[in-house]
Amino acid sequence: MADKKGTGAGSIVEESLDALLDDETFLPELEGQTRKKAFTSLVSILSTPNHVHKSYLRTPLLNGKVVRILSFRVQHNNIMGPYKGGIRFHPSANEDEVMQLASLMTLKSALHDVPFGGGKGGVMIDPAEYEAKELYLIAKKYVQYFSDILGPEKDIPAPDVGTSEREMDWMMGEYKSIHPGRKYRSSFTGKSVLNGGSLGRKEATGKGVYFTFHYLIHDFMKEQYQWLKERDNIFAKKALDQQDKTLTIAVQGFGNVGSVAALEAYKSSQLDNKVVSVSDKNVTLYNSDGIDIPELIKYTKENSDLPVNDDELSEANVKATIMDRDEVLSMDVDVLFLAALGHQVHNENMKDVKASIIVEGANAPLTTDADQYLSEQGVIVIPDILANAGGVIVSYFEWLQGRDTQFLTEEQVFERLNDKMKETFDAVLPQYFQDVFTLRQNCYIHAVMKLSTVLFRQGKLY
Ligand code: GLU
Repeated sequence: MADKKGTGAGSIVEESLDALLDDETFLPELEGQTRKKAFTSLVSILSTPNHVHKSYLRTPLLNGKVVRILSFRVQHNNIMGPYKGGIRFHPSANEDEVMQLASLMTLKSALHDVPFGGGKGGVMIDPAEYEAKELYLIAKKYVQYFSDILGPEKDIPAPDVGTSEREMDWMMGEYKSIHPGRKYRSSFTGKSVLNGGSLGRKEATGKGVYFTFHYLIHDFMKEQYQWLKERDNIFAKKALDQQDKTLTIAVQGFGNVGSVAALEAYKSSQLDNKVVSVSDKNVTLYNSDGIDIPELIKYTKENSDLPVNDDELSEANVKATIMDRDEVLSMDVDVLFLAALGHQVHNENMKDVKASIIVEGANAPLTTDADQYLSEQGVIVIPDILANAGGVIVSYFEWLQGRDTQFLTEEQVFERLNDKMKETFDAVLPQYFQDVFTLRQNCYIHAVMKLSTVLFRQGKLY
């Protein structure tokens, strides 16, 4: 049977949020039929994006050919603030995927009380096939085509899969040329620090991913130990099983998110965390004694990919066994950080997963079927909108800094980031350990509650 790929807002509201109608804090101002009607409006608002912008970017390449590249900007919802979300350069960035990712941004920002809506962009290319100069031309074209719908109060893009501060700098530069005089510094986030980016933005997603895991296992569980023991809940039991032992960690993806999350886990090894496996698009590396993450990061800075043979491993000064790329997913570990692409665990490999805790550094790395199956097994899944929100949270700091040109130190950025993530976590965790919902469903309920109250008060739920 076909695997359901979507964990986007529409399917979530329809499938798992019927519970909202039973919840007396959902629109308590309304009753009976009126409340049901408001719920139906809510479902339809969150199921469909406000706008889907699509264009073929006509771009000349260095060989003289002119190509037309399919590109999107989806603006899902802006009830909480300007549309916000990354632009990915990836061959699979199709309309459906970008729509689903845009809806996740609406929920992510609402969940963490970041005053943004949800958006996402996609450029259907494999950036590895283009020269830097060509990527520059493509990035410029993207802004030219979509310049009217973007802007610091309208829609603020950021990096995503296949893009980084380099593309954001290019794009902001183009936006500035098209709209001289506007507050261009806040038109894009994830820029380089010299171009008005925020200290700590680059590391923010990876740091946040590790923080959610650390907070759950090393802080929340210790503080709430007795309370957790009294809960008759499959996830509470699973969490308690992880106490007082060395937790082995495998990390899928060694890009900006995975490498930073792995480094944070490595640095915390005094807390009995041990990163035993990492992977990228070519290989999985494994060492039961733990992998030297700082050495690997040094190596990938120069060579971009992980070592793929023994010579490269010794050049990197790292001891590990080389395995097939996807072996990371079935590794016999306690914790799996998924920081590569979407839909990595699906119908066909979900039963091979052995980890008890999954942390979603990427967006939607589990298909709906895999999510359901793993949750039924009691696997604790820290969902994308909770775990990988570090990026958009620090984007918000960057956006504010761009408006008043007052900059935070790196220390202040990370302190504020951790405070924000802790606040959200504290709001959703107690409920998670005492009811039947997964942590993802709890996060959705939380986010949708906020969205529905704001929509209602703005008169949009009739
Ligand atoms: N692309 C990141 C995400 O999916 C960051 C978005 C942003 O900073 O706007 O959360």
